[in-house]
Amino acid sequence: MKTLRSYIRGDWHEAKSGLAPLVNPSTEETIAQAGSAGIDFAAVLDYARQKGGPALRAMTFAQRAAILKEMSKVLRDHRDELLALSALNTGTTTADGSFDVDGGSGTLAYYFALGKGLGDRTFLAEGEGVQLAKTEGFYGRHILVPRHGVAVHINAFNFPVWGFAEKAACALLAGTPVITKPATSTSMVTERAIELIVAAGFLPEGALQLVVGATGNLLDLLGAQDVLAFTGSADTARGLRSRANLLAANTRVNVEADSLNAAVLAPDVQDGSATFNLFLKDVKREMTQKSGQKCTAVRRILIPRDRMDAVQEALIARLSEVVVGDPQDPSVKMGPLATAQQLDDTVRGIGELKQAARIVHGTGQRTDGAGAPAGKGFFLQPTLLRSDDARNAGPVNEREVFAPVATLLPYDGSARDAAEIVALGGGTLVTSAYTDDAGWAGDFVARGGGETGRIYIGSESSAGDAPGSGAALPQTLHGGPGRAGGGEELGGLVGVKLYLQRVAVQGAKSLVDGLVG
Ligand code: NAP
Repeated sequence: MKTLRSYIRGDWHEAKSGLAPLVNPSTEETIAQAGSAGIDFAAVLDYARQKGGPALRAMTFAQRAAILKEMSKVLRDHRDELLALSALNTGTTTADGSFDVDGGSGTLAYYFALGKGLGDRTFLAEGEGVQLAKTEGFYGRHILVPRHGVAVHINAFNFPVWGFAEKAACALLAGTPVITKPATSTSMVTERAIELIVAAGFLPEGALQLVVGATGNLLDLLGAQDVLAFTGSADTARGLRSRANLLAANTRVNVEADSLNAAVLAPDVQDGSATFNLFLKDVKREMTQKSGQKCTAVRRILIPRDRMDAVQEALIARLSEVVVGDPQDPSVKMGPLATAQQLDDTVRGIGELKQAARIVHGTGQRTDGAGAPAGKGFFLQPTLLRSDDARNAGPVNEREVFAPVATLLPYDGSARDAAEIVALGGGTLVTSAYTDDAGWAGDFVARGGGETGRIYIGSESSAGDAPGSGAALPQTLHGGPGRAGGGEELGGLVGVKLYLQRVAVQGAKSLVDGLVG
């Protein structure tokens, strides 16, 4: 059986003990094993600090950007192979796998273009300068310089390529060497992607290392100049960000975590209109894409109270079209959940939601999948629940069920009621609102903006272009307040700044301008 390897200190390391099995989620066959036993994490950090950091910092933004261009090309050139591995290891259909793989290459390509535009500089000037005294004898400007540390990236199981690539793009562009750790259960795809990138031979020594399996004492060794960027569950995030050494050193920690994202149908949207159809199409996609295992998936659907029955019926008609099964079967539109643990957690989570809601579509239990052996595979039909009291729906506003599961909730049609119910989620990555009423949209943004990282407005005018609320595009922010982790990724330079130190440079204007350029 294949044992996945870590890429550390310029070489491939295969653990000999402590190996965890990786499973095909459609058949439950073991396909590989992975672990990190035997890795000297202090040496891994030293290698990044002594080789990767200096090499990257000596390069200009344009030169670092060129690395991202090559990484993007490798992922594009091997797209089919990575999609096949994704189907095997994570159970994705081709469309769902491409959301991850093409999302990764696209994000790297975006940051290549951004970095190329920053040109032959090794640091950035930020904003205008300001005179600090009566004359130009004392003046100040802000600059952003690479920190002298290492970026440790810990990713969730659901995006083995995009998750690694979107974080690495920002860190490498900033000049920070990366140690990346995918979730063990789906690390087969990340391992192969990095194997291909390393084999292409363009990475500076020490710029990128891969840890497959547990991180050992790696996090204990992080200090003031390092960055820990984590994506995963809020529980894991809490444990990681409260580590004593990270608190003592004020190590930068960025967290992308759970999110009870909501889609809101505004009262102006008539049945059968372009905006209504966009709403139905988006909600179906955002419930079922990647089998609902997306941090940006829709979990709560807010409907004007008097339209609940009609919208429920229309959504059920759409969800009934979804064929669940092994992605190798051409009829299949939605694959399994990625692991047995995800399925267990989902069934348990639906049980909790049922304390405040009732199932109106699906069973909330494992099902057999098309093209898969009977009794095998982590399959679940899309599951729609309904609660008729949104403000007292307890777990519906608090428990993220990471699966094709969402709950219909009524509201009174006002932007105020919608925003207050959305806020019960405790902070989200994205909120979508479907309306052609600019006044309603403005009111909703004003009342609900502080509770979410992104507001996606679906309307007749956007229906032809909008990619769905679940797409985290590199140009705009990905992250959200509160439960969503409080982090900020992507958003053009926003994501790069995590790895840069802002320095105020003060002195005579002529000197400061000369230094900053
Ligand atoms: P998870 O169990 O928290 O694991 C996430 C990552 O943390 C994995 O790589 C895991 O490694 C690692 N990890 C766990 N304990 C650790 C420790 N003590 N030290 C170091 N690393 C540790 O989450 P998951 O089940 O993979 O992902 C699902 C969750 O991620 C969902 O809640 C979802 O909302 C969230 N998510 C958020 C975003 C976002 O952008 N906001 C994106 C995707 C997913 P092992 O696999 O080796 O245990």
